[in-house]
Amino acid sequence: MNRIVGHHTGGPGTPTADDLNAYHRIVDAAGGLHDGRFPISANAPGRNLAPGTYAPHTLGLNTGAIGLAMAAMGGASWGDPVGSTRFYPTDLQVTAFISEAARLCRVYGITPTRKTVLTHAEVQLTLGVTQANKWDFDYPVFGPTNSRDPLVIGNMMRALIREELDAQEASGRPVTREPIRFVLRRGMFDPAVRALQARLQALGFDPRGVDGHFGPGTFAALVAFQCASELLPDGIAGPATLTALNL
Ligand SMILES: [Zn+2]
Repeated sequence: MNRIVGHHTGGPGTPTADDLNAYHRIVDAAGGLHDGRFPISANAPGRNLAPGTYAPHTLGLNTGAIGLAMAAMGGASWGDPVGSTRFYPTDLQVTAFISEAARLCRVYGITPTRKTVLTHAEVQLTLGVTQANKWDFDYPVFGPTNSRDPLVIGNMMRALIREELDAQEASGRPVTREPIRFVLRRGMFDPAVRALQARLQALGFDPRGVDGHFGPGTFAALVAFQCASELLPDGIAGPATLTALNL
């Protein structure tokens, strides 16, 4: 195998039967790993990829390519990727995705470059293999950015994978580390959101439920807190807001 393509499934936070058919490895919302129906070797170079015998994760680019996906983004719209889904990738999920990508690089001897470890949204741009409007990933899943350029997002992904790969190579095994901490924002479903909601509630800003889902109630409560604290009232819990909340 000589390539890894990173995807979101466009489904819920746990893999569906279709997802298991399409990808080799799928990370669920809790960071758990699932094997797809087809082993990675089913896409090996030199094999005749007859329909129903391999994981068809990337149009025209399945030979030698490992399909690694996050079970995420069901119901999302391209115009509002962050706010339109209950299944925005979680910190645990992204962390496990990066760890698994690095492990696969190690196992298959793949050096991460733009051509060998890339997101689905980069395939057409970088390799010239036409895809059907795939946008996994052109939103800020690997860290805060305002850019929706797939190459910018892909570079952030590769930087995390290289860092993880170095750590795995140093220790000879996958590294257990703290989840990568990102900002909390509308659309996320994550234990960290639950902590945010509990904190807001304790401070008298009612998030309309402590359920781990960053919906309109949490957004309104956070904006009210930010106004009261003279923070930028953007409804996004970044470092300044989280610090002000003692989180
Ligand atoms: Zn994809």
